[in-house]
Amino acid sequence: MTGTDLIALKPTGTPLDAAERELRLAEPGFGRFFTDHMVTITWDAGQGWHDAQLVPYAPLSMDPAVMVLHYGQAIFEGLKAYRQPDGGIATFRPEENARRFQRSARRLAMPELPEELFLASLQALISQDQDWVPSGAEKSLYLRPLMFSTEVGLGVRPSSSYLYVLIASPAGAYFPRGLKPVTVWLSEEYSRAAPGGTGEAKCAGNYAASLVAQAQAADQGCDQVVWLDAGEHRWVEEMGGMNLYFVRGSGDTASIVTPTLTGSLLAGVTRDSLLTLAGDLGYVASADRISVDDWRDGNASGEITEVFACGTAAVITPVGAVKSASHEWTIGDGETGPVTARLRKALLDIQTGAAPDMHGWVHPLTVTI
Ligand SMILES: *Cc1c(COP(=O)(O)O)cnc(C)c1O
Repeated sequence: MTGTDLIALKPTGTPLDAAERELRLAEPGFGRFFTDHMVTITWDAGQGWHDAQLVPYAPLSMDPAVMVLHYGQAIFEGLKAYRQPDGGIATFRPEENARRFQRSARRLAMPELPEELFLASLQALISQDQDWVPSGAEKSLYLRPLMFSTEVGLGVRPSSSYLYVLIASPAGAYFPRGLKPVTVWLSEEYSRAAPGGTGEAKCAGNYAASLVAQAQAADQGCDQVVWLDAGEHRWVEEMGGMNLYFVRGSGDTASIVTPTLTGSLLAGVTRDSLLTLAGDLGYVASADRISVDDWRDGNASGEITEVFACGTAAVITPVGAVKSASHEWTIGDGETGPVTARLRKALLDIQTGAAPDMHGWVHPLTVTI
């Protein structure tokens, strides 16, 4: 099965000039440039999913009364395609993103895109725009699937039509000058997600609600916000759009622990992969509840030696220091710890094909043109 069986290909006759594309791939940054094409798939109550097509990347036009602009039924995903040593292209655990996209859709009362169509859209776009997949250390093509409601009208209810769109954007190394630990702000005023809310769904509204807290973190001289549970502001949940890990001990006897998925945390693919990969490297890895007091006391006693965040965009980001309204502390010596660096390299090596894939995580693309 290839993407082209399910998706009608209507490519542009005028792709970006190769020299101009190479300039963009040399310094892609993040989310600044987009490839020549996109995939769109339409859903409506009568026909279900239909009209899957690969078309030139272009603006979408919409009615001002389209439901998404008012009531926010909008979800997205994020994953990367990496150039492999043999010149091929592979994505990392894309079935997990397909399934999470379905779970997000369910929570927002939206139709679920079949996994096969999700994967076919990736296959079709990457195959068509394969020249946009950069090679070079830590460079990738970032894939952004999204879906939103398209019915026109102001009645509050689930829309009767939706559009799925897949776009792609070349991404540079997240840390071009080497891993740099971030300083985090513990947000006790705002919450990202509450029990019964949408914290588990990758929906646009979660990000809208996070921006004011992120601005507050910046005002405090911090790079990122750390979210605590909404009820008690006591249990550590996530950092910005990334999951967190705490390292206890050091050397071969180190263990890593990540906050338990309580329903208000987003279940990251990177988080899940690290639970397994850490075990492969000989660390004990588990999920547990971690309070702010546990963190501060564990840091003071030396039990907690490193902390890092993880997600598709940066893979692993070390956390160097913590600040809240009442406290401030440095983690270890404030630099990237050895367990953090080792896990980061091990995961990136699998994604980029530099190390063997023992778990069937790497999904090579069949290049069809
Ligand atoms: C996307 C996301 C993550 C990380 O998920 P990955 O699948 O590892 O990229 C973590 N937290 C939030 C809030 C997210 O939106």
